Amino acid sequence: MSVFWNERVNSLTPYIPGEQPRESGIIKLNTNENPYPPSPAVYAALRDAAVDTLRLYPDPCCTALRCAIAAKNGLQSENVFCGNGSDEVLAFAFGAFFGKERLLFPDITYSFYPVYANFWGINYREVPLGADWNINIKDYDDCSGGIIFANPNAPTGSFLKISQVKTLCSLALSKNAVIVIDEAYSAFAAETALPLLLKEKFPNLLIVRTFSKAYSLAGLRAGFALGHKDLICALERMRDSFNSYTLDYIAQKAALAAVNDHNYLDQTTAKIIAERERISAELKKRDYEILPSAANFIFAKHPALSGEAVYESLRSRGVLVRHFSKQRIKDFVRISIGTKEQMDALLNAAP
Ligand code: PMP
Repeated sequence: MSVFWNERVNSLTPYIPGEQPRESGIIKLNTNENPYPPSPAVYAALRDAAVDTLRLYPDPCCTALRCAIAAKNGLQSENVFCGNGSDEVLAFAFGAFFGKERLLFPDITYSFYPVYANFWGINYREVPLGADWNINIKDYDDCSGGIIFANPNAPTGSFLKISQVKTLCSLALSKNAVIVIDEAYSAFAAETALPLLLKEKFPNLLIVRTFSKAYSLAGLRAGFALGHKDLICALERMRDSFNSYTLDYIAQKAALAAVNDHNYLDQTTAKIIAERERISAELKKRDYEILPSAANFIFAKHPALSGEAVYESLRSRGVLVRHFSKQRIKDFVRISIGTKEQMDALLNAAP
């Protein structure tokens, strides 16, 4: 609090990011980062970046990167928007598509959504996930103010089938509402909502993705959205009302190199999925409840200990996972999937 703060700043409840510990030697499984390094093509792109070009402003439209993302996904560049991490893309989407009518999102989901909604003064309702920890699409009938959810969801890892996402897209379309699917973790799932853009051509569907997880570039800050050109144009209007140059020259170069290295992405993703399945099975043998995960993390509940106790016990043994104090999920911890060695260390340390 300060006398210099205006009402807007006073009323904010900011998002609290996962801890980035300073001490070395911690096994960091708390923020769903990728344990593998970025593609070798990213190293080459950074080495070859023309430092003298930093004199100039970067391309505000991220033309080369948008073209590469569009080509990879079977779209046109007018269907792609790039931003400074998917957090920024999401912030713009909230500002551009949601408002007075009630926006719907799950009660257990990415905890930045209520922060953005409050920031923009958006009317919203948190819809409880079902007892199976997944979205029940019947609860979304009243969606005239729009829908947003993460698929796979965070922190549960649960996945809503694309046939059901399609039903929600149709429902939202019938009410002239936008539906945003946050696909931060979709590389680790069996399906994505992309066919709903390519084949069904829903004009009200925005898919948001990131370079932070599957591409191992959380430190670069690059994310993107896929959708109808009118939705993309709205995001550009938002960006150009804040900061035209959200992705710097270096980030555009590195992200471009990552997009074009399809094989590397497939290899590292396959390793993470295999490790996710191994760890889930091992912890189940110890009577942990493990929700089925389509992401690069698992949501785990100890048979007897509270989530906080598991978090503290692991932390004291040098393994950092994430605990959320929200009532409904306070007995769980979220464990990001690391390398086999890291996960063996987790198994050794786990109470
Ligand atoms: N969506 C979800 C569901 C996430 O978990 C995260 C990561 N915290 C993000 C979006 C944002 O990722 P980034 O800004 O690094 O692209």
